[in-house]
Amino acid sequence: APRTHWLFGDQLGPHFLDPRHGGPDAHAPLLMIEARSVLRRRRFHRAKAHLVLSAMRHRAAELGDRVHYVRARTYAEGLAEAGFGGGGDRLTVCHPTSRAALDLVTARDGIDVLPARGFLLAQEEFGAWAKEHGGDRLRMEGFYRWMRREHELLMDGDEPAGGTWNLDHDNREPPPKGVKTLDVPAPYRPHEDEIDDEVRRDLDRWERDGEVTFVGRDGPRRFPVTRREALAALKRFIAQRLGDFGRYEDAMLAADPVMSHSLLSVPLNLGLLDPAECVERAEQAWRAGEAPLNSVEGFVRQIAGWREYVWQLYWHFGEEYRGRNALRHRAPLPDWFLDLDADAVTANCLSTVLAQVRDTGWTHHIPRLMVLGSRALQDGWDPAAVTDWFHRCFVDGYDWVMLPNVVGMSQYADGGRMTTKPYTSGGAYINRMSDLCGPCAYRPTDRTGEHACPYTAGYWAFLHRHRESLTANHRMARAVKGLDRLKDLDGLLEEVAERGDRAP
Ligand code: FAD
Repeated sequence: APRTHWLFGDQLGPHFLDPRHGGPDAHAPLLMIEARSVLRRRRFHRAKAHLVLSAMRHRAAELGDRVHYVRARTYAEGLAEAGFGGGGDRLTVCHPTSRAALDLVTARDGIDVLPARGFLLAQEEFGAWAKEHGGDRLRMEGFYRWMRREHELLMDGDEPAGGTWNLDHDNREPPPKGVKTLDVPAPYRPHEDEIDDEVRRDLDRWERDGEVTFVGRDGPRRFPVTRREALAALKRFIAQRLGDFGRYEDAMLAADPVMSHSLLSVPLNLGLLDPAECVERAEQAWRAGEAPLNSVEGFVRQIAGWREYVWQLYWHFGEEYRGRNALRHRAPLPDWFLDLDADAVTANCLSTVLAQVRDTGWTHHIPRLMVLGSRALQDGWDPAAVTDWFHRCFVDGYDWVMLPNVVGMSQYADGGRMTTKPYTSGGAYINRMSDLCGPCAYRPTDRTGEHACPYTAGYWAFLHRHRESLTANHRMARAVKGLDRLKDLDGLLEEVAERGDRAP
């Protein structure tokens, strides 16, 4: 008889049930466990809790009699209730996406861990590449080019399609002048059904009973939770929105948080879409002349490059990476940030972005990096607490994707294993790339005084604080030297210290 196969809540697409290539037994009976302890441990964004529960329950409804769906307090209790309390029958499970879940399944007798699904590359293949390419000083660009070759993505023979690997320089345009929203068709939006109603009633009840607490606002549901919805979202993105993806990838508009981004991270991270089908469809669109190369290359880079790289680094860097704090940042996160209290914030960029997080649990990568992450970096917040915040507050946040993105990419807490320099800037960058500074009470050019932009002042204060270590970084040395030209540095530092952790 086939062994029962356990599906975690981020293993919901058909590829997790494909028996080929080391997959579960064909026609295996299935087990899903909705463990409430996961929600109790942390104060998640309510929209995120909604998405995960809705996705799991929709999948269970589709699978019908084939699945035993257990609602339990903990995974251990769920396993016991399903008759897998210890010894006896063996279970299979695809390699989980977090170290905690991997420890949970490997610590128990009778669970066979099958190869991971939902990524393009096996861990062993990455290990071999990493060994060959510099051990500790790995770089995404080299990995990405190797992936393009290995997986024959956007290649013409041995050459990159169009003769170049990297079209990033075409993909950094500011938003078009004088517009409030990009002129592109709206993204796919799902319709809620009775399963969503049930989830919302459960969340209400648990909250009322004091069992769980959430941040953020929930509803209406904005992201796919079924395979059918995920495919519809992918199709709409490729057919109608991919064309403008590249050009405005880094731009921000207050009234158009999504712009031309795909909104596919949620269905990808729930396991509803396979990254291979996403990049293949994008490439097909280019070959058919339906989307320009800079957009298609940009999108392939995000998925076959960044997403894959981050997944691999999570395992490659090991558990100690979580506690890295190269800049020795120790400040706790202030309450206004923890509570997503956008109304308490005067700086228009931060207030706008924090409101987006509060209302949707999502922003695109530049607000994450250059508004939220940069604030944390400039103010010296504890990187582990910042990681936890992103994990809880973002609808696409999972341990594997948070650690490299926040500890490494955003907070430079790994001292440069993931990026070549800290990502932070003064208000000038935000002003160039968005319409957020125009109506702001602060001025991006002002370092001190009543209208001093907290990003501009914070940038110099950050450089000053880490002057010594940053001077040694050739990509930062010039910026650090700029400190010497600031006649108002003392006053600036005083004002920054005086603000403390008050909302800027
Ligand atoms: P698009 O801009 O349309 O990109 C397409 C896809 O590329 C995304 O759906 C995503 O699957 C993938 N991708 C691109 N960059 C990354 C990356 N750095 N890491 C992983 N996947 C990537 N992404 C998450 O999926 N979960 C997170 O919790 C997350 N946290 C982040 C935290 C910080 C501080 C930063 C700087 C980035 C983070 N990202 C995270 C990456 C990126 O911001 C999101 O994947 C993206 O904004 C999701 O929106 P989208 O689907 O419209 O993406």
